[in-house]
Amino acid sequence: MDFTFSPEQEAVRDAVARICAKYDDTYWLARDTDGEFPEDFVADIASGGWLGIAMPEAYGGAGLGVTEAAIIAQTIAESGACLSGASSIHMNLFGPMPVVVFGTAEQKERMLVPLIKGEDRCCFGVTEPDAGLNTTAISTRAEKAGDHYLVHGRKMWTSTAQTANKILLLARTTPKEDCAKPTEGLSLFYTDLDRGGATEVREIAKMGRKAVDTNAVFFDGLKVPKENLIGEEGKGFHYLLHGLNPERVLIGAEAVGIGRIALKKASDYARERVVFGRPIGQNQAIQHPLAKSWAELEAANLMVFKAASLYDAGQPCGAEANAGKYLAAEAAFHACESAILTHGGMGYAKEFHVERYMREVMIARIAPVSRELILSFIAERVLGQPKSY
Ligand SMILES: Cc1cc2nc3c(=O)[nH]c(=O)nc-3n(C[C@H](O)[C@H](O)[C@H](O)COP(=O)(O)OP(=O)(O)OC[C@H]3O[C@@H](n4cnc5c(N)ncnc54)[C@H](O)[C@@H]3O)c2cc1C
Repeated sequence: MDFTFSPEQEAVRDAVARICAKYDDTYWLARDTDGEFPEDFVADIASGGWLGIAMPEAYGGAGLGVTEAAIIAQTIAESGACLSGASSIHMNLFGPMPVVVFGTAEQKERMLVPLIKGEDRCCFGVTEPDAGLNTTAISTRAEKAGDHYLVHGRKMWTSTAQTANKILLLARTTPKEDCAKPTEGLSLFYTDLDRGGATEVREIAKMGRKAVDTNAVFFDGLKVPKENLIGEEGKGFHYLLHGLNPERVLIGAEAVGIGRIALKKASDYARERVVFGRPIGQNQAIQHPLAKSWAELEAANLMVFKAASLYDAGQPCGAEANAGKYLAAEAAFHACESAILTHGGMGYAKEFHVERYMREVMIARIAPVSRELILSFIAERVLGQPKSY
């Protein structure tokens, strides 16, 4: 059992940290205020070759694993970029996994190479307004029309769709009532987000992460060439599942990063702020929540990286990836809350940044899967309870 990163993994972390050092809290506060996508940051990360860390070497990637991708995501979040930074590249890091695993050699060449170079930006169209977490209930449909499909429907919460030129899209190709199981009849496409067929990309005003847009996307006859179908028609749900565990690992790693920077800010402030003639950090009522957060964050981190190493070793990791994401998001949320309270009134002021961390960490509690559904999954799959959802 080895809990340390290898020298190569530490080198990845240090190199990404050097890029992040150019984008300080002031930069991210400005993006959180003006809502501009952090194009310069993304270009820097792409030019370092980091987007392809977990992609095959044959297509310009580094051929490393989800562990290294998680190190990158965590380093970005922990720099203070939080999800404003991490979400801007998150999809490029993990999103193409179904293409990597189930795509043809021609598709991998065509789809992965520009993604790794940062020339293409991909969004992820799964969630729908009337289906929620019950993914098999989605109603967006892709109908065959000669050598292509026509997509009609609506996606919800599609992040980065304002600027993305590609979409990994889940759509029904066989009506649910004609399928033996609801998980069948769904297909996965990686295709152009062509504004002729995606007739509206409407940004959702949201609580935080203003720099990385999230949208309702309306499809009215989006033309998808048949060669953009990933794997076999009707098996998209199974392909999608393949990418879910790495995504939970990345979100968990990012949450720990947010928690750590919140804790650092709180600890610095507690040492410096003098009230009643002594640093506030001299009071155990200030120390203990911070110490508890440290313990919770580091324990969550072990679960996140255990899941990553299981995935990279080709082992089942569903329970660990879900548990890691759950523990990390909860620990990070509590760390952010303690950071705000440690700052007193200044915790509520934007110039101290911890209020932004709190708004962004909420995303990790909700997406891509909620706390409730994670606990239901663990109850069912680990503890043998009847399925409740
Ligand atoms: C900022 C942001 C970015 C996002 N980006 C993307 C993206 O890029 N692409 C994408 O496809 N999606 C994206 N999402 C969507 C996200 O994955 C969903 O919001 C999430 O999966 C929850 O689905 P929902 O919002 O429809 O909740 P609902 O399914 O409506 O659930 C609402 C609440 O009810 C609870 N609940 C529902 N059923 C049960 C049950 N059986 N037992 C117990 N509790 C239950 C849930 O846990 C939740 O708390 C994003 C969301 C956010 C907030």
